[in-house]
Amino acid sequence: MATTYDELIDQVQRPARYAGGELHSIVKDWEGPGAPEVRVALAYPDLYDLGMSNLGLGILYDIVNRREDALAERVFSPWTDFEDLLRANGEPLRSLETRHALHEFDLLGISLSYEVCFTNVLNLLDLGGIPIHAADRAEDDPIIVAGGSAALEPEPMAPFFDAFALGEGEELIDELVDFVRDWKRAGRGSRTELHRALAALDGVYVPSLYEATYDADGYLDGTRPVDDAAPDRITRRVMQVLPPPLTKPIVPFMEVVHDRAAIEIQRGCTQGCRFCQAGMIYRPTRERSVEEVVEAAGELLANTGYHELSLMSLSTTDHRDIVPMVHALMDAYGDRGLRIGLPSTRVDSFSVEVADAVARGKKHTLTLAPEAGSQRLRNTINKLVTEEDLLNAAEHAFSNGWTSIKMYFMVGQPTETDFDVEEIVRIASEVKAIGKRHQGGRARVRVSTSNFIPKAHTPYQWLAQCDAETLRRRHRILREGCKRAGVQFTWEDPEKSLLEAVLSRGDRRVAEVIETAWRMGAKFDAWSEHHDWSIWERAFAEHGLDPADYAYRHRDLWEPLPWDHVDSATTKAFLRGEWMRTLNEEITLDCKRDPCNVCGHQDINGECTHKISELVTMHRTGDTTKHDRTVAVAERVGAPLTLV
Ligand code: SF4
Repeated sequence: MATTYDELIDQVQRPARYAGGELHSIVKDWEGPGAPEVRVALAYPDLYDLGMSNLGLGILYDIVNRREDALAERVFSPWTDFEDLLRANGEPLRSLETRHALHEFDLLGISLSYEVCFTNVLNLLDLGGIPIHAADRAEDDPIIVAGGSAALEPEPMAPFFDAFALGEGEELIDELVDFVRDWKRAGRGSRTELHRALAALDGVYVPSLYEATYDADGYLDGTRPVDDAAPDRITRRVMQVLPPPLTKPIVPFMEVVHDRAAIEIQRGCTQGCRFCQAGMIYRPTRERSVEEVVEAAGELLANTGYHELSLMSLSTTDHRDIVPMVHALMDAYGDRGLRIGLPSTRVDSFSVEVADAVARGKKHTLTLAPEAGSQRLRNTINKLVTEEDLLNAAEHAFSNGWTSIKMYFMVGQPTETDFDVEEIVRIASEVKAIGKRHQGGRARVRVSTSNFIPKAHTPYQWLAQCDAETLRRRHRILREGCKRAGVQFTWEDPEKSLLEAVLSRGDRRVAEVIETAWRMGAKFDAWSEHHDWSIWERAFAEHGLDPADYAYRHRDLWEPLPWDHVDSATTKAFLRGEWMRTLNEEITLDCKRDPCNVCGHQDINGECTHKISELVTMHRTGDTTKHDRTVAVAERVGAPLTLV
């Protein structure tokens, strides 16, 4: 007798990854009167353990399932044990909720949040019984749509998707579901007609309607529409006001990466760290009120049974009301055992005070992200914290009972020298000395580094990545220095960073490399035990492409880029200016507290329109607030004084 899908699930390492049936998962009828017209599968191209920690996936699942005319189910990349069983038994990959194969859905939305997951996308499609190339799909195949931040540099994945939904998913998901419903009601049509109709939706990029051309030297000449249904540029969609938070998320049976309740208290960040893609595209900041967060937290904790609540944001302690919010939450739910997690904290004593308030006695590891060791480098990347801020934060933390500090730094940043890296060791040693003074032998300090990856839509999108040999030398400096100082040190594999750099700024030709690498066995490249750079080297060679051309080449500031037809709303003029300010070691203030920097979002966001009007008034009336503030901050961080 043939083995059933559920029997296969029983044979794997962690059946809960594929079984479904968790609290708040939603199962709707597929057939019969009242069955929803639109069937959506939401896929995360990595393990359940990671995908279930993705707040965006849960939000979209909730939005679609609130509709009577649609259902949403989930699917994640199977780990190799399950994939082997599926392939050996000729079984397709199925959804967790109703065990329908992926090819049976109308719409398959795939989250692209990390470029090194690209081969997993091809694996998902293949296992789900869907042709991997959009051009090979038939009328009744699902519509495959990508979302997430990596969809903003779509070209390396262009042949595999019918469309890319650019921007914030809550803005677009209902329009896409409406589109699919109407498309089905109208009796569908050819794939070409489908693509032309999809291109009419704001914020939807349909790659089959565009062509990339190259000059005689092989450099990109441009990516232009070849169909009059396609606009020249596609602008990403942005929510003006955050929708209500998710208060009934699915509660996994097994431990996942973020095993706790989560509320997004703020979206966006305008601190302006120049390497940070999220900070450059998720603008302006949009905050939830204390009242909204406290009310939602009550529902969330009651609905899930969690005691730990994560206050999510790119920079949580930048929320204007973070202190009253934390106190209000603890006052309301502290006696029920609430513990609050702050995923990201600013480097200053204020943030440690906030961390103190949430810890209420249970203090262990405090995480800070100075990003660079020297003040010069911090100024160039616009991370406007001083060594004094950092040492004060360490002093405050260790003297108030914290026993461990973890510090994030980035290695290989633009203009970095070995001296800047040696400064990381010096600072870590000083933090360790402070720890010893207050906590004796219990004090722990950890330096955790990532490698700088130049990303699209940032001021560093034109720059060469630091080469692997230099990264290895700087890792050695850190390893030896941290060892001498009694500081733990962790680092990232330079080759994996090279792959990420190529995939982050690739053109359409890289798609062939991705497909070849996948056929050669590349998958789960984010996982060290699976990443094999030699596969990618062979795949690049097979297509006559050199990864160094993508990763290690400085682009001219005016040369066409593979993502030029994608309008993130942050203008190239602003990004070029920020790169020039990097070279001049000039700083840019955070527009949340200071005047607007005219980054481009004024064209699509009402709040920004207001801020830019203020700026115009300032100039008209001779108000020097912006200049004075810039001078004051520049003096504090020791940056050159500039007229702005
Ligand atoms: S337009 Fe101005 S206010 Fe809006 S995000 Fe950009 S710099 Fe900030």
